Amino acid sequence: MKSSSVNSFTKKIACPSSSLLLSSLFQALSPEIMTLIRHHLAACDFCCAEMPLLAHYESPLRGECKPPVIPINLRILAESLLWKSSAVQRVSERKKSLKVGLSIAGS
Ligand SMILES: [Zn+2]
Repeated sequence: MKSSSVNSFTKKIACPSSSLLLSSLFQALSPEIMTLIRHHLAACDFCCAEMPLLAHYESPLRGECKPPVIPINLRILAESLLWKSSAVQRVSERKKSLKVGLSIAGS
C-alpha cells in the first residue's frame, strides 16, 4: 500500500469547512450552496464521514464555554507535582555540570 492512499482520507482544499457542513445540516444555507455541498458529499469520503459526527453537535448554552474552576486540593497537588518535576530537572542539570567539571579535572 502506498502512503499516498493513506493520506487521501483528509479534508482537501476543495472541501467545505466543518461549520459550513454544520450549517447545511440545519438547512441554514441557500439552495445553490446546499446543492454544491450535496454534490461534494457524493464525491468526498471524508466529508461524508464527517456529517454523522456533526449531527451530534449541540451549540453550547450561554455561559457554558468558560472553563471549570479547579478544586483547590487538585490545584495544590498539580502545583506541587510541577514544582517537583522542575526541581528534579534542576538537580539533573547540576549533576551534568558536575560531571563536566570532573572530566575536565580528570584530563
Ligand atoms: Zn470533502
